[in-house]
Amino acid sequence: MPLFDSHVDGYCHKEVSKNPYMDVSMIETIDRVTSFYADLDKMILQFQLKTGLRCPEKCGGICCQKEDVYISVIEMLPIAHAILIEGESAFWLEQLESKSPASRCIFYSQEPRGNIQGHCRQYTLRPMICRMFGFASVRNRLGEQKLSTCKCIKLSDKDAFLTATAIQSEAPCFSNISASLYGLEPSLSARLQPINEAFKAALSRVGLYLQLSHVEDLGGISVA
Ligand code: SF4
Ligand code: SF4
Repeated sequence: MPLFDSHVDGYCHKEVSKNPYMDVSMIETIDRVTSFYADLDKMILQFQLKTGLRCPEKCGGICCQKEDVYISVIEMLPIAHAILIEGESAFWLEQLESKSPASRCIFYSQEPRGNIQGHCRQYTLRPMICRMFGFASVRNRLGEQKLSTCKCIKLSDKDAFLTATAIQSEAPCFSNISASLYGLEPSLSARLQPINEAFKAALSRVGLYLQLSHVEDLGGISVA
């Protein structure tokens, strides 16, 4: 069963007015998440430049091939919105239907891109967890920030790893960043779910929003 009518695909978000039946426009939330990602990328880049920590090309996204990636719906709003605007929802819904909900992320492709083996098909809009993975810190029981990186990064450049460990308290902190994201829209951030389910839910929420806005613009909505 479709999540929403296909005519919503390709609808220009610039024409979407604020929906009076929601506290904050979905489009405003998506813009906030996009700005949030831009700020987060700057923090991560700063840490990478300071430490030399980076993903080795030969890795090809081992983290993307895991089956237990959990995220919140809000993290998927920018991808869902872009897919709807581009009219690609039917393709991605087919991808979702061909996989079990908890399987590997549907956006991962094993096709090489340049020298890199495998790639994300939504890289610029990818979720928060995908941006932070490998370049973040977590708090231990004493509240200290400890570097959380992956084995590939750790083994590929031991000097960079040692430098990063020495200044681990400067690495973007998962709990702080997650709390900031939660503050953008608590109702879409509270629950973590498998990455493909979060995408499906985001597609449904954004699709419904665009559909309601479209009906409103045509003057066809009535509320009893
Ligand atoms: S974070 Fe680690 S596993 Fe993921 S792409 Fe980078 S090196 Fe590979
Ligand atoms: S959204 Fe992209 S970066 Fe994140 S898990 Fe999926 S393929 Fe990997």
